[in-house]
Amino acid sequence: MIIDGKATAAELRQRIGEAVDALKQQHDLTPGLAVVLVGTDPASEVYVRNKARQTEEAGMRGFKFTLPEETSQDQLLAKVHELNANPEVHGILVQLPLPDHIDEKTVIEAIDPAKDVDGFHAINAGRLMNGEAGALVPCTPVGCVILAKQHLGENLSGKHAVVIGRSNIVGKPVAMLLLKEHCTVSIAHSRTEDLPGLCRQADIVVAAVGRAEMVKGDWIKPGATVIDVGINRIDAGEGKTRLVGDVAFDKAASVAGAITPVPGGVGPMTIACLLRNTVTAACSQLGITPPEL
Ligand code: NAP
Repeated sequence: MIIDGKATAAELRQRIGEAVDALKQQHDLTPGLAVVLVGTDPASEVYVRNKARQTEEAGMRGFKFTLPEETSQDQLLAKVHELNANPEVHGILVQLPLPDHIDEKTVIEAIDPAKDVDGFHAINAGRLMNGEAGALVPCTPVGCVILAKQHLGENLSGKHAVVIGRSNIVGKPVAMLLLKEHCTVSIAHSRTEDLPGLCRQADIVVAAVGRAEMVKGDWIKPGATVIDVGINRIDAGEGKTRLVGDVAFDKAASVAGAITPVPGGVGPMTIACLLRNTVTAACSQLGITPPEL
């Protein structure tokens, strides 16, 4: 089974659009998402454009701020404080990476945790770690779990999940979400011994490494679910490039029970989950029970 992230994300966005219509009609609430981009990183510009487009397609209010590369940390913090105070803005996303002269942690911690739709603020990370309700959870990890359930169904209880990567934005939160689903979770990283052997024990492999096709077909247990988060651009010859994941797709697909492709797997889920977080954040800020999405 090839897990179709594009189709799953489109269905989720459809449900979000319906929920937004209902919030407008029943509560006079239009969720608003503000995206702040500093500088002109081409990949970030593409992400921000896609986020803005999909926000509006879902019927939400989008606010986009493009600040010059030389913006000081204080100027960026002032923008964050302004958005924290704006009642029309329910979600704030500062596109990463930021230029070197700005400390990402300081900026993330300045975002009101109730509006932190990226889920990177220490308050939200702590709530996820504690298994508390009400956490805004990072988008890509939520997308990974939704896609794993496409193959395994709602009940992941007792499955052995091996997460390769321990970053704060993917590896750690996806491990916490899988733990919440009652998986037995192993978190692997660059110092892990016998990573192939560990992977071969996994019912679910989540690869979030950033190394092209590192996970080989013979690392995969027959029938396992493989979620490939990696986005790596490689040389495709004749001056062209192409995107591949962290998993050697063809070989792994012949062994796995299900696998996400790159592109078209985890990637499209990230923005859909961002929109979902924005709806949740807007409802929470107004004391409305968020819709099941
Ligand atoms: P990151 O911060 O660079 O973390 C990479 C992790 O991989 C680290 O924990 C590192 O271990 C581990 N690692 C590196 N080499 C390894 C090796 N040889 N064996 C085992 N583990 C190894 O990356 P990230 O931000 O989590 O992103 C990971 C990938 O996901 C990237 O390709 C990124 O582009 C992609 N991504 C995709 C989306 C999406 O929407 N689809 C969103 C976010 C990220 P140490 O901690 O020991 O260094």
